[in-house]
Amino acid sequence: MSCDPSSSSTPSGPGVSRREFLATSSAAVVAANLDGPPSVAAQPAAKLALEGGTKAVPKACPLGLRWGPPERERLEALLQQENLTYWNGPQTKLMLERFREFCPMKYVQPCSSGTASLHIAVAAAGIGLGDEVITSPITDIGTVIGVIYQQAVPVFADLGAGTYNLDPADVERRITPRTKAIIAVHLCGNPCDLHALKALADKHKLVLIEDSCQAWGAKFRGQPIGTIGHMTCFSLQNTKHVTCGDGGIVGSNDERFGPLLQKFGDKGMDRLKGGGFQAFATNYRMSEPQAAVVAGQLTRLEAIASTRARLGNLLTEKIAGLPGLTPHQVHPEDRCVYWFYFFRMKPEAFRCDRAQFVKALVAEGAPCTAGYIAVPLHREPVFQQHGFFAGRWPVREMGLTTMDFTKHQTPEVEAILKTGIRVTIHERMTEDYIANVAEAIRKVARHYAA
Ligand SMILES: *Cc1c(COP(=O)(O)O)cnc(C)c1O
Repeated sequence: MSCDPSSSSTPSGPGVSRREFLATSSAAVVAANLDGPPSVAAQPAAKLALEGGTKAVPKACPLGLRWGPPERERLEALLQQENLTYWNGPQTKLMLERFREFCPMKYVQPCSSGTASLHIAVAAAGIGLGDEVITSPITDIGTVIGVIYQQAVPVFADLGAGTYNLDPADVERRITPRTKAIIAVHLCGNPCDLHALKALADKHKLVLIEDSCQAWGAKFRGQPIGTIGHMTCFSLQNTKHVTCGDGGIVGSNDERFGPLLQKFGDKGMDRLKGGGFQAFATNYRMSEPQAAVVAGQLTRLEAIASTRARLGNLLTEKIAGLPGLTPHQVHPEDRCVYWFYFFRMKPEAFRCDRAQFVKALVAEGAPCTAGYIAVPLHREPVFQQHGFFAGRWPVREMGLTTMDFTKHQTPEVEAILKTGIRVTIHERMTEDYIANVAEAIRKVARHYAA
């Protein structure tokens, strides 16, 4: 099932009003009467939908149900089992087998969330009291929850203006004798510059952890993301490329960290050796029912990842060169899997602000919203007040860090969040649909051009 915009000309189609149908079909007649290919550039400035013109994107494209026979098959098998725990569970085994097909990892530990996978990785890296971990301030807060629970200190670096990923030069500037690790967030499924970050990690003896939660199926220079850093973390939360509602996977090929993942995800127990608690850790286990759903979901991953990569790149192609707009910047040899698409507007290039620009896009039917998270993580009240544990932050009170989040500066990050526009991309969309979205962006950009 996919969203074919041409189906919007069916008056009986769900969700299409008679007025929308008439508007769409009359626009089609007009377009058909033009000579040559229906190039938007050749047309006179079209009237904005906001001002009563025809919508550039006539019909919404919902993601809809993301599960069916592969998940049902796994859940049926699950119901024949007497045991629903993950250890030696057949659903978990199959899930991990399928996981390894796209991310070849010697050690993998399923867990309860992406946040848990990151906490497990940070714990396995030996990060503790007062250690510093450099990461991105534009991410899910789950990236740093584990760092803070380990009584370590997140240090936020600035990001690339077009990639929205860690700027290796700024990361290097923030390295101190206390730095222990870098968490590279592949934001929106766009691979970080892993060569540069790995080189920094090697030079300064840091652990490189990949936060791949938004990057299922992404590739860095042809290699699956996750296989370059020392550990990699995935989320199976509902909004991610594949899901079981909530879940995560952490993996490693490194002999120093890999064997620790199971312990730090499973109350400190070593299930292979037995013999009590080998470490102190919480219960982050995933259960067999979750693994069953994920095993089914993973059969869909390559199609989901390749479709999103193709559609996102197509959008870039179609809006490239528009004055005042910067498309999502992806390295030509990488595969970005667009958890969402993010472009920026140069405020001085338009006669309107971002809110108005987005309002016009939404009126065109384009699935856009202004920005992503409201503020960089370190500007959230809990960071500004250093109040992580019942209003206090022991590591700071003990004098083991001088970190003051009220003084933390990441100027490019602030600009990205103020000028970025988010476009939903998903696997049910078609190239025609994306062409319409691009047309909406061009139409609005032209209308408000300064
Ligand atoms: C979703 C996400 C997380 C956290 O995953 P949960 O499963 O929600 O705990 C961490 N980092 C990034 C970049 C994410 O997108």
